[in-house]
Amino acid sequence: MRISVIGCGYLGAVHASAMAELGHDVVGIDVDERKIAALAAGRPAFYEPGLPEILASATASGRLRFSTDIADAAGAEVHFLAVGTPQSAETGAADVSFVDAAFDALLPHLADGALIVGKSTVPVGTAARLAERLAAAAPHAGLAWNPEFLREGFAVKDTLSPDRLVYGVGEEDDRAASVLDHVYRAAIEAGTPRIVTDYATAELVKVAANAFLATKISFINAMSEIADATGADVTALADAIGHDARIGRRFLNAGVGFGGGCLPKDIRGFIARAEELGLNDTLAFLGEVDETNLRQRRRVVDLALQALGGAATGKKVAVLGVTFKPDSDDVRDSPALDIAISLQELGAEVVVTDPEGLDNALARRPDLGTASTTREALFGADLVILATEWNEYRALDPEAAGRLVGERRIIDGRNVLDPAVWRSAGWQYRGIGRP
Ligand code: NAD
Repeated sequence: MRISVIGCGYLGAVHASAMAELGHDVVGIDVDERKIAALAAGRPAFYEPGLPEILASATASGRLRFSTDIADAAGAEVHFLAVGTPQSAETGAADVSFVDAAFDALLPHLADGALIVGKSTVPVGTAARLAERLAAAAPHAGLAWNPEFLREGFAVKDTLSPDRLVYGVGEEDDRAASVLDHVYRAAIEAGTPRIVTDYATAELVKVAANAFLATKISFINAMSEIADATGADVTALADAIGHDARIGRRFLNAGVGFGGGCLPKDIRGFIARAEELGLNDTLAFLGEVDETNLRQRRRVVDLALQALGGAATGKKVAVLGVTFKPDSDDVRDSPALDIAISLQELGAEVVVTDPEGLDNALARRPDLGTASTTREALFGADLVILATEWNEYRALDPEAAGRLVGERRIIDGRNVLDPAVWRSAGWQYRGIGRP
């Protein structure tokens, strides 16, 4: 099929490449000239495992092109909207102005029978509003909402083999679902569950899923606070409750909390949307989820101050990891970055290292102390904080690391190290909710 993907950031660049990998003829469109130039040259503007390979093969085959000119989307049968929906600073609501701008720009270029497919995460009601405008401006075209569930770090696999497909379609639209089935034929033939529903439900599936995941993380982080106050072990607790299939072990890892370009903004946007709907109390608990999450960052800073004897001034702190999760270079709303900045502001000599995230961290915080290797970061440190669980940090050898640091003190902000092993190597080990 002929496909356009409008917005080529973390979501759109992967989606465009994956659609071409599936054999479709794809054009990726973005307003950011630098991003498009890099993608056209086969270089993703961000780190995502597996993306360079499929991007290179798709551009070489001629099945994938990139452009900054929306007119180049004109021939497509399906147009995916994958632009950003950031949090508005004042209200916390999702800012849909990029979606509206992309939609408006696309309208004059729609071929007969074209289908616009929203992938961006939007407040419930957005698709119905756009469908109404489409019916007036281009009645020959259709609209569907097909939320995206990919995880950064696994984005290529998640796009090629999603664990479910959700199509939100218009009331009398019996065509959109079959067009999307055609787009995703490989996944459907592989047995991927597919849910065809109305616009509002499809939009809500995405924010509800993120709200649930955020709640699960904040739940276990709240348990970690109780564990710290009582000497219990939150990791054993998570293992034990996780055996209950109704609960499940995944997303039950206590630590510095969630971050990134989705979960935090999506729960805030969801709360704001519920309030707009007059449901002021309904999602109040998500405000607590958010607050519990942010408290984890402060807890780690407090633990760091405690470990340093009450004051950070002049102390060297090595922060391992700055991205919000491993296998990504994304530092949007990253707990690791926040913790590093807070300690630097408290007077510590912070040295952050990360396999992929340093450029993005420095773009946000040019005065951040950084080191390009773990070795350099650890050298002479009074305290080490493991803030993002990259494999390289999980695999650290306490003996070798111990020879580099000034003081053998570590805060394991992700509970991924073995306390017994580190303690027996002479380290003062502190996890989150672990005795
Ligand atoms: P991003 O900021 O990385 O990318 C958005 C891109 O849209 C940017 O490159 C920007 O230049 C481009 N853009 C803005 N206005 C445009 C316009 N009028 N025309 C063309 N391009 C335009 O954001 P992202 O992380 O890719 O997220 C995009 C959407 O996908 C958001 O709604 C997000 O919530 C959702 N989402 C993201 C992920 C993820 O893991 N990143 C997962 C699922 C859903």
